[in-house]
Amino acid sequence: MRQDPTGTRRGFGFGGLRLWVLVLFAAYAGYYWFSNRTTDALTGEKVVIDKNISPQDEKALGLQAYQEILTQEQPLDPNSQIAQQVHEVAQRLIAKVPEVEDALASEHGMQAPHVEKSFDWAVNVLQSDQVNAFCLPGGKIAVYTGLVPVAQNADAMAVVLGHEISHALLRHGAQRLTEQKLEQIGQMAGAASGMDQNQMQAVMAVYGYGHALPYARKQETQADEMGLMLAAAACYNPREAIPLWQRMTEASGGSGQPEFASTHPNPGTRIQNLQALMPKALDYQSRFCKGAGSAAAAP
Ligand SMILES: [Zn+2]
Repeated sequence: MRQDPTGTRRGFGFGGLRLWVLVLFAAYAGYYWFSNRTTDALTGEKVVIDKNISPQDEKALGLQAYQEILTQEQPLDPNSQIAQQVHEVAQRLIAKVPEVEDALASEHGMQAPHVEKSFDWAVNVLQSDQVNAFCLPGGKIAVYTGLVPVAQNADAMAVVLGHEISHALLRHGAQRLTEQKLEQIGQMAGAASGMDQNQMQAVMAVYGYGHALPYARKQETQADEMGLMLAAAACYNPREAIPLWQRMTEASGGSGQPEFASTHPNPGTRIQNLQALMPKALDYQSRFCKGAGSAAAAP
């Protein structure tokens, strides 16, 4: 019950000027947030992407990051069996991107932005025990050899790559950069003009390279859904997503957390979500999987 006679004044130390500076910055942050808020055509959800960050800016950052990664990690011979299998999965998914985007956008009564038109896709398998894969903005894809025994089959590999490609198509990196800009405003870091080394590393991190800045959970859910539709449309078996995530959960029990397991504290929720999406995925399969592409459907 003792009272500190000096304690009552704590927390009221704002000078008038300091308060006004904070109010002005808060107003600017609010303006920045509202003026950059749009509805994503592919998910129907509200997103905040700085209008000054174009897909071309993202692509340039992605390319720069990819080149740096390829100097640090050894890519497998593109003619090796694993590299060719991964390449085929990626190509089949990429071929379905325009149709699946149109279908998703029409569910929300919108037009797909088709950012993939500006992409220069590339696929590499990197020699590493990490259970991981990523797709950078601009379409630069990498799969670590450590993922191969966990994926086990082409259907599961398609689910993982569909997920990673969806992060790039949904511009989740630009969303994260925008959040960073808001943080910078908050920290009064001054006007951030151009992309510096730190921002590039941040993009690399959010796209799965490293573990510093995982995707937000909502972004993970969006990538799961769109990725599943892509895999199904490309004639892969979407049902393989369930045992895949079970294996992934087991694999992530160790020290290295894969990007796609990083922000889901409850893997059961993810599996439930995927199970709920299964009828839609099978619908996408019947609509878009045509022709002789179903060779990989059996494990
Ligand atoms: Zn992810």
